[in-house]
This record gives sequence, C-alpha cells and structure tokens, in this order.
Amino acid sequence: MFTVHCPICQKRMEVENLDSLPSLPFCSERCRLIDLGRWLGGQYRIPVGPDSADQSNEEETVP
Ligand SMILES: [Zn+2]
Repeated sequence: MFTVHCPICQKRMEVENLDSLPSLPFCSERCRLIDLGRWLGGQYRIPVGPDSADQSNEEETVP
C-alpha cells in the first residue's frame, strides 16, 4: 500500500499498486493536465537571457 499526495489538489490517495494509477503522481488525468497547463503557461518557465548574439553585434558596431 502506497500513500500518494497529488501535487495539484493535495488529495491523499492510497493505492495498492503504483501501476494501478497511470496518472501518478497526480490523482487524476484532470490534475495531470492542470500541471501540464502550468508548464505551457510559463509559470515554471526557466528564465533565459536575451539573445546574446544580436546584442554583441550591436555593441561591436558602436564606436
Ligand atoms: Zn489531484
């Protein structure tokens, strides 16, 4: 028996076999899609710096 907490809705689940819950670690397909939506929405987006190639070119042309 495993106890799993859904990271989206914090619902506690008790499952006999981890294979019996294909949406793990989420309680349901709905919570899995919510998490996916957060990723696509940029909430967890890794910050990326500006395009350094373009900037360095501009700096080189400036005397
Ligand atoms: Zn959930």
